[in-house]
Amino acid sequence: MKIAAIDIGGTAIKYCLYDDCLGFSGKMLKETPSNANFGAQKLMETVCEIVGQMGKIDAIAVSTAGQVDPVKGSIIYATQSIPGYTGMPVKEILSNRFNVPAFVENDVNAAALGEAFYGAGKDFKDFICLTYGTGIGGAIIINRDIYYGSGFSAGEFGHIVTHAHGLLCGCGKRGCYEAYASTKALVRMTKEKINEDMDGREIFKRMSAPLIKSIVLSWLDEVMTGLASLIHIFNPPCIILGGGIMNEDFIIDYINSHIREYIIDSYANVEIRKAQNGNSAGILGAICRAKQGLI
Ligand SMILES: [Zn+2]
Repeated sequence: MKIAAIDIGGTAIKYCLYDDCLGFSGKMLKETPSNANFGAQKLMETVCEIVGQMGKIDAIAVSTAGQVDPVKGSIIYATQSIPGYTGMPVKEILSNRFNVPAFVENDVNAAALGEAFYGAGKDFKDFICLTYGTGIGGAIIINRDIYYGSGFSAGEFGHIVTHAHGLLCGCGKRGCYEAYASTKALVRMTKEKINEDMDGREIFKRMSAPLIKSIVLSWLDEVMTGLASLIHIFNPPCIILGGGIMNEDFIIDYINSHIREYIIDSYANVEIRKAQNGNSAGILGAICRAKQGLI
Protein backbone atom coordinates (compact mmCIF):
# COMPACT_ATOMS: atom_id res chain seq x y z
CA MET A 1 0.00 0.00 0.00
CA LYS A 2 1.50 3.32 -1.07
CA ILE A 3 0.27 6.56 0.49
CA ALA A 4 1.16 10.09 -0.59
CA ALA A 5 1.43 11.85 2.79
CA ILE A 6 1.36 15.64 2.94
CA ASP A 7 1.54 18.08 5.85
CA ILE A 8 0.34 21.55 4.81
CA GLY A 9 1.44 24.42 7.05
CA GLY A 10 1.56 28.19 6.67
CA THR A 11 5.36 28.10 6.23
CA ALA A 12 6.18 24.73 4.68
CA ILE A 13 4.67 21.74 2.96
CA LYS A 14 6.23 18.49 4.23
CA TYR A 15 5.68 15.31 2.30
CA CYS A 16 6.73 11.73 1.75
CA LEU A 17 5.73 8.63 -0.14
CA TYR A 18 4.84 6.07 2.52
CA ASP A 19 5.09 2.40 1.57
CA ASP A 20 3.47 -0.04 4.00
CA CYS A 21 6.14 -2.66 3.30
CA LEU A 22 9.00 -0.29 4.13
CA GLY A 23 7.49 1.60 7.08
CA PHE A 24 8.28 5.19 8.04
CA SER A 25 11.37 7.09 8.99
CA GLY A 26 11.71 10.83 9.54
CA LYS A 27 14.52 10.79 6.93
CA MET A 28 11.91 10.21 4.23
CA LEU A 29 10.41 13.65 4.83
CA LYS A 30 10.92 16.29 2.18
CA GLU A 31 9.98 19.93 2.48
CA THR A 32 9.15 22.83 0.22
CA PRO A 33 8.03 26.38 1.11
CA SER A 34 4.23 26.87 1.18
CA ASN A 35 4.51 30.33 -0.35
CA ALA A 36 1.16 30.88 1.36
CA ASN A 37 1.20 34.58 0.46
CA PHE A 38 0.35 33.57 -3.13
CA GLY A 39 -2.93 32.19 -1.81
CA ALA A 40 -4.60 28.84 -1.23
CA GLN A 41 -5.30 28.10 -4.90
CA LYS A 42 -1.60 28.22 -5.73
CA LEU A 43 -0.83 26.18 -2.61
CA MET A 44 -3.19 23.42 -3.77
CA GLU A 45 -1.52 23.43 -7.19
CA THR A 46 1.83 22.87 -5.48
CA VAL A 47 0.33 19.98 -3.46
CA CYS A 48 -1.03 18.43 -6.68
CA GLU A 49 2.39 18.74 -8.34
CA ILE A 50 4.03 16.99 -5.37
CA VAL A 51 1.50 14.12 -5.43
CA GLY A 52 1.76 13.89 -9.23
CA GLN A 53 5.51 13.21 -8.95
CA MET A 54 5.02 10.26 -6.61
CA GLY A 55 3.93 7.76 -9.25
CA LYS A 56 1.31 5.12 -8.54
CA ILE A 57 -0.36 5.57 -5.15
CA ASP A 58 -3.29 3.95 -3.32
CA ALA A 59 -4.34 6.93 -1.21
CA ILE A 60 -3.55 10.50 -0.21
CA ALA A 61 -3.18 11.45 3.45
CA VAL A 62 -3.26 15.12 4.41
CA SER A 63 -2.53 16.85 7.70
CA THR A 64 -3.21 20.57 7.44
CA ALA A 65 -3.33 23.85 9.28
CA GLY A 66 -6.83 25.22 9.81
CA GLN A 67 -10.07 23.85 11.20
CA VAL A 68 -11.00 20.76 9.20
CA ASP A 69 -14.22 18.90 8.49
CA PRO A 70 -12.68 15.40 8.27
CA VAL A 71 -15.85 13.92 6.73
CA LYS A 72 -15.98 16.31 3.78
CA GLY A 73 -12.22 16.78 3.92
CA SER A 74 -12.63 20.53 3.61
CA ILE A 75 -11.30 23.54 5.49
CA ILE A 76 -13.97 25.00 7.79
CA TYR A 77 -11.80 27.95 8.78
CA ALA A 78 -8.22 29.08 8.27
CA THR A 79 -6.51 32.26 9.43
CA GLN A 80 -4.89 34.73 7.07
CA SER A 81 -1.64 32.72 7.28
CA ILE A 82 -3.02 30.97 4.15
CA PRO A 83 -5.26 33.54 2.41
CA GLY A 84 -8.32 32.01 0.73
CA TYR A 85 -7.94 28.60 2.39
CA THR A 86 -11.27 28.77 4.26
CA GLY A 87 -13.80 26.58 2.40
CA MET A 88 -11.13 24.75 0.35
CA PRO A 89 -12.44 21.25 -0.61
CA VAL A 90 -9.01 19.60 -0.19
CA LYS A 91 -10.25 16.00 -0.26
CA GLU A 92 -12.46 16.55 -3.31
CA ILE A 93 -9.67 18.26 -5.27
CA LEU A 94 -7.13 15.51 -4.55
CA SER A 95 -9.38 12.47 -4.91
CA ASN A 96 -10.85 13.76 -8.18
CA ARG A 97 -7.48 14.63 -9.61
CA PHE A 98 -5.71 11.36 -8.70
CA ASN A 99 -8.66 9.00 -8.57
CA VAL A 100 -7.73 7.52 -5.16
CA PRO A 101 -9.27 8.02 -1.71
CA ALA A 102 -8.02 11.10 0.17
CA PHE A 103 -8.12 11.70 3.93
CA VAL A 104 -7.78 15.12 5.54
CA GLU A 105 -7.16 15.91 9.23
CA ASN A 106 -6.35 19.05 11.17
CA ASP A 107 -2.60 19.07 11.97
CA VAL A 108 -2.95 19.09 15.76
CA ASN A 109 -5.47 16.22 15.67
CA ALA A 110 -3.25 14.35 13.22
CA ALA A 111 -0.23 14.82 15.48
CA ALA A 112 -2.22 13.43 18.44
CA LEU A 113 -3.27 10.42 16.38
CA GLY A 114 0.38 9.91 15.40
CA GLU A 115 1.35 9.98 19.10
CA ALA A 116 -1.43 7.49 19.86
CA PHE A 117 -0.12 4.87 17.43
CA TYR A 118 3.59 5.62 17.02
CA GLY A 119 4.61 7.94 19.85
CA ALA A 120 4.28 8.93 23.49
CA GLY A 121 0.62 7.83 23.65
CA LYS A 122 1.17 4.20 22.65
CA ASP A 123 0.60 2.93 26.19
CA PHE A 124 -2.70 4.78 26.64
CA LYS A 125 -6.20 4.39 25.26
CA ASP A 126 -7.14 7.94 26.26
CA PHE A 127 -5.04 11.08 26.63
CA ILE A 128 -4.96 14.75 25.76
CA CYS A 129 -2.33 16.56 23.73
CA LEU A 130 -1.24 20.20 23.80
CA THR A 131 1.16 21.94 21.42
CA TYR A 132 2.90 25.13 22.55
CA GLY A 133 4.11 27.69 20.03
CA THR A 134 2.75 31.02 18.82
CA GLY A 135 -0.55 29.77 20.25
CA ILE A 136 -1.59 26.60 22.04
CA GLY A 137 -3.27 23.82 20.09
CA GLY A 138 -4.99 20.82 21.61
CA ALA A 139 -6.49 17.45 20.83
CA ILE A 140 -8.50 14.88 22.74
CA ILE A 141 -7.90 11.17 22.15
CA ILE A 142 -10.58 8.81 23.42
CA ASN A 143 -10.32 5.10 22.70
CA ARG A 144 -7.35 5.75 20.40
CA ASP A 145 -9.39 8.07 18.22
CA ILE A 146 -9.94 11.81 17.96
CA TYR A 147 -12.87 13.34 19.83
CA TYR A 148 -14.11 15.99 17.38
CA GLY A 149 -17.03 17.71 19.11
CA SER A 150 -20.22 18.79 17.34
CA GLY A 151 -18.48 21.12 14.86
CA PHE A 152 -15.11 19.31 14.60
CA SER A 153 -13.55 21.91 16.89
CA ALA A 154 -13.08 20.19 20.25
CA GLY A 155 -9.82 20.59 22.13
CA GLU A 156 -9.11 24.29 21.54
CA PHE A 157 -7.32 24.41 24.88
CA GLY A 158 -5.52 27.63 23.97
CA HIS A 159 -8.77 29.52 24.48
CA ILE A 160 -9.93 28.23 27.84
CA VAL A 161 -9.97 31.28 30.09
CA THR A 162 -7.38 31.23 32.87
CA HIS A 163 -7.58 34.96 33.72
CA ALA A 164 -11.03 36.58 33.83
CA HIS A 165 -10.97 39.87 31.85
CA GLY A 166 -7.26 39.36 31.25
CA LEU A 167 -4.98 40.04 28.28
CA LEU A 168 -6.45 40.33 24.79
CA CYS A 169 -5.98 37.09 22.84
CA GLY A 170 -5.55 36.61 19.09
CA CYS A 171 -9.09 35.16 19.03
CA GLY A 172 -10.52 38.53 20.06
CA LYS A 173 -11.50 37.42 23.58
CA ARG A 174 -9.71 38.13 26.85
CA GLY A 175 -7.79 36.06 29.38
CA CYS A 176 -7.18 32.97 27.22
CA TYR A 177 -4.65 30.35 28.30
CA GLU A 178 -2.47 30.91 25.22
CA ALA A 179 -2.06 34.61 25.99
CA TYR A 180 -0.22 33.52 29.17
CA ALA A 181 1.24 30.07 28.57
CA SER A 182 2.28 29.87 24.89
CA THR A 183 5.92 30.13 23.86
CA LYS A 184 5.03 33.56 22.49
CA ALA A 185 3.81 34.56 25.96
CA LEU A 186 7.11 33.45 27.55
CA VAL A 187 9.01 35.53 24.99
CA ARG A 188 6.76 38.52 25.76
CA MET A 189 7.13 38.11 29.53
CA THR A 190 10.92 38.04 29.13
CA LYS A 191 10.92 41.12 26.93
CA GLU A 192 8.75 43.00 29.47
CA LYS A 193 11.04 42.12 32.39
CA ILE A 194 14.52 42.50 30.88
CA ASN A 195 13.82 44.35 27.64
CA GLU A 196 15.66 41.84 25.44
CA ASP A 197 14.36 39.95 22.44
CA MET A 198 15.12 36.27 22.98
CA ASP A 199 13.48 33.18 21.55
CA GLY A 200 12.54 30.20 23.72
CA ARG A 201 15.85 28.42 23.16
CA GLU A 202 17.94 31.45 24.22
CA ILE A 203 15.78 31.96 27.30
CA PHE A 204 16.47 28.40 28.48
CA LYS A 205 20.19 28.72 27.69
CA ARG A 206 20.33 31.60 30.15
CA MET A 207 18.32 29.91 32.90
CA SER A 208 21.23 30.14 35.35
CA ALA A 209 20.48 33.88 35.65
CA PRO A 210 18.08 34.20 38.63
CA LEU A 211 15.84 36.79 36.91
CA ILE A 212 15.39 34.63 33.82
CA LYS A 213 14.75 31.57 35.94
CA SER A 214 12.05 33.47 37.86
CA ILE A 215 10.38 34.45 34.55
CA VAL A 216 10.43 30.84 33.35
CA LEU A 217 8.95 29.67 36.67
CA SER A 218 6.10 32.24 36.43
CA TRP A 219 5.43 31.04 32.88
CA LEU A 220 5.41 27.42 34.09
CA ASP A 221 2.91 28.46 36.76
CA GLU A 222 0.65 29.65 33.91
CA VAL A 223 1.26 26.43 31.97
CA MET A 224 0.32 24.27 34.98
CA THR A 225 -2.72 26.38 35.88
CA GLY A 226 -4.25 25.49 32.52
CA LEU A 227 -3.18 21.86 32.75
CA ALA A 228 -4.80 21.60 36.20
CA SER A 229 -8.20 22.57 34.74
CA LEU A 230 -7.82 20.00 31.98
CA ILE A 231 -6.80 17.29 34.45
CA HIS A 232 -9.91 17.98 36.54
CA ILE A 233 -12.12 17.84 33.43
CA PHE A 234 -10.69 14.75 31.74
CA ASN A 235 -8.97 12.84 34.57
CA PRO A 236 -6.52 11.63 31.90
CA PRO A 237 -3.85 9.01 32.60
CA CYS A 238 -1.49 11.00 30.40
CA ILE A 239 -0.99 14.45 28.91
CA ILE A 240 1.37 14.79 25.96
CA LEU A 241 3.07 18.14 25.45
CA GLY A 242 4.52 19.13 22.08
CA GLY A 243 5.99 22.13 20.31
CA GLY A 244 9.66 23.10 20.01
CA ILE A 245 9.88 24.49 23.53
CA MET A 246 9.01 21.10 25.05
CA ASN A 247 12.41 19.83 23.88
CA GLU A 248 13.74 21.58 26.98
CA ASP A 249 13.79 18.60 29.35
CA PHE A 250 13.63 20.96 32.32
CA ILE A 251 9.98 21.76 31.47
CA ILE A 252 8.61 18.20 31.42
CA ASP A 253 10.61 17.27 34.57
CA TYR A 254 9.46 20.40 36.39
CA ILE A 255 5.79 19.90 35.49
CA ASN A 256 5.90 16.22 36.47
CA SER A 257 7.32 17.11 39.88
CA HIS A 258 5.04 20.13 40.56
CA ILE A 259 1.68 19.50 38.85
CA ARG A 260 0.33 17.67 41.90
CA GLU A 261 0.44 20.94 43.86
CA TYR A 262 -2.27 22.19 41.47
CA ILE A 263 -4.65 19.23 41.51
CA ILE A 264 -6.81 17.27 43.90
CA ASP A 265 -5.05 14.13 45.20
CA SER A 266 -7.42 11.72 43.49
CA TYR A 267 -6.21 12.98 40.06
CA ALA A 268 -2.56 12.47 40.90
CA ASN A 269 -2.00 9.43 38.68
CA VAL A 270 -1.59 11.70 35.63
CA GLU A 271 1.69 11.41 33.79
CA ILE A 272 3.12 14.26 31.70
CA ARG A 273 5.03 13.11 28.62
CA LYS A 274 6.87 14.85 25.83
CA ALA A 275 5.58 14.32 22.29
CA GLN A 276 7.93 11.99 20.41
CA ASN A 277 7.24 12.46 16.73
CA GLY A 278 8.61 16.00 16.30
CA ASN A 279 8.60 17.18 12.71
CA SER A 280 6.89 14.02 11.45
CA ALA A 281 3.93 14.27 13.85
CA GLY A 282 1.28 15.49 11.41
CA ILE A 283 2.38 13.21 8.56
CA LEU A 284 2.35 10.14 10.82
CA GLY A 285 -1.18 10.88 12.02
CA ALA A 286 -2.41 11.43 8.47
CA ILE A 287 -0.87 8.09 7.45
CA CYS A 288 -2.64 6.39 10.41
CA ARG A 289 -5.96 7.85 9.33
CA ALA A 290 -5.49 6.80 5.70
CA LYS A 291 -4.55 3.25 6.71
CA GLN A 292 -7.64 3.04 8.93
CA GLY A 293 -9.76 4.39 6.07
CA LEU A 294 -8.41 1.93 3.52
CA ILE A 295 -8.99 -1.17 5.67
ZN1 LIG B 1 -8.31 33.18 22.73
